[in-house]
Amino acid sequence: MTSNSYDVIVAGVGAMGSAACWHLAQRGLRVLGLERFDLGHGMGSSHGLTRIIRLAYFEGSKYVPIVQRAHELWQKTGEQAGLKLLHVTGSLDLAPAGSGQVESSLQSCLDHGLEHEQLDGQEIARRFPGFSLPSGHIGLWQPGGGFVASEKAIFAHVGLAQSRGAEIRTNEPMLDWSPTADGGVTVRTARGTYSAGRLVITSGGWITDAVPALARTVTTVRQAIGWFTTRKPELYREGVFPVFILTVEEGNFYGFPLYEHPGFKLGGPHFGREPMDPREDDRTPSPRQVELIRACLARYLPDAAGEPLTLKGCLYSVTPDEDFIIDSVPGVPQAVFASCCSGHGFKFASAIGEILADLSDSGRSRFDLAPFSLARFAA
Ligand SMILES: Cc1cc2nc3c(=O)[nH]c(=O)nc-3n(C[C@H](O)[C@H](O)[C@H](O)COP(=O)(O)OP(=O)(O)OC[C@H]3O[C@@H](n4cnc5c(N)ncnc54)[C@H](O)[C@@H]3O)c2cc1C
Repeated sequence: MTSNSYDVIVAGVGAMGSAACWHLAQRGLRVLGLERFDLGHGMGSSHGLTRIIRLAYFEGSKYVPIVQRAHELWQKTGEQAGLKLLHVTGSLDLAPAGSGQVESSLQSCLDHGLEHEQLDGQEIARRFPGFSLPSGHIGLWQPGGGFVASEKAIFAHVGLAQSRGAEIRTNEPMLDWSPTADGGVTVRTARGTYSAGRLVITSGGWITDAVPALARTVTTVRQAIGWFTTRKPELYREGVFPVFILTVEEGNFYGFPLYEHPGFKLGGPHFGREPMDPREDDRTPSPRQVELIRACLARYLPDAAGEPLTLKGCLYSVTPDEDFIIDSVPGVPQAVFASCCSGHGFKFASAIGEILADLSDSGRSRFDLAPFSLARFAA
């Protein structure tokens, strides 16, 4: 075996790719992780300190077994790495009664026996005085929800993978790849050509470059997040304030308790679709999205609606049905990919890394991945 030869190459060492590197390396495989930028950079989908993890899943019950596994793995991986990755704060879905979001989350709790409570407007105001919600809003409280420390999670996965011999090369994007006659792959970068038995593609917002078969299905959109001066930080501390998803007439927003930043973090509008080309260098948040975030704070979280302290732009890929695609490249079973996108993928990364390692090893997963196949868009 030459030094340019590996069992598996992972293209893209962000949320999903770092987890895949760890799960592959801990199986004793020779792993090369290639990353376009620095580790933990601010150009993709995973920066900004925190990502929500919810077990009550309005996006569909099919996600719950995977997010339950992810929850376990975040806890375990944090312990292995000596870092606190998972913060259990409880999660709240907040929406007008009858609009579907709270009802779908409730259904996923009932389907999977998850602990939960339905809250009316008065109870929400009593427990969480940081909110000032319109009458008619209801809530679903799920005590197992919380957040994952996002950059820390990538660092943890990479550190663990390196401790089992994985090589991680940053600022070295995969330029192209091709299958070989012996059932492996060749990967080319500006620094060299590498061969491997298998390829795992986790290049996030850039995935259509490596998997052109996704080009008609996956698009990349711009998102904004901000941290704002809070007048009453005591209302928004971790321990008294949960993570939440709030649907209001301005859109769908998500927020966090205070964490490693003096400001209150709010992002959204979650389903806003401003297309962007990831090759652009500019990550300035869209003024329209920042305006909507500030309007949401002013109306519904007035004690957290101070001046912006930090504003960031971010991107993620989206599919037409907002569901993930986890599959092999058509006609190339030795190349698997995950496009875990549409703005709700991070929480799953620990489990998706394991799923990709399983698919790469055996072509199978213990989870039902049929809802996430590329073939569903074939018609
Ligand atoms: C503002 C915002 C808020 C979000 N909030 C939540 C949330 O609260 N909860 C949640 O679960 N999800 C959330 N998401 C979604 C979640 O963050 C994403 O689903 C997740 O980060 C995607 O991970 P990824 O590994 O696919 O992408 P990334 O982490 O971006 O990783 C892809 C990596 O591939 C690299 N790359 C690209 N091309 C190449 C190449 N050719 N060669 C080598 N490397 C390459 C990139 O540089 C990047 O590092 C949010 C997303 C955004 C943007």
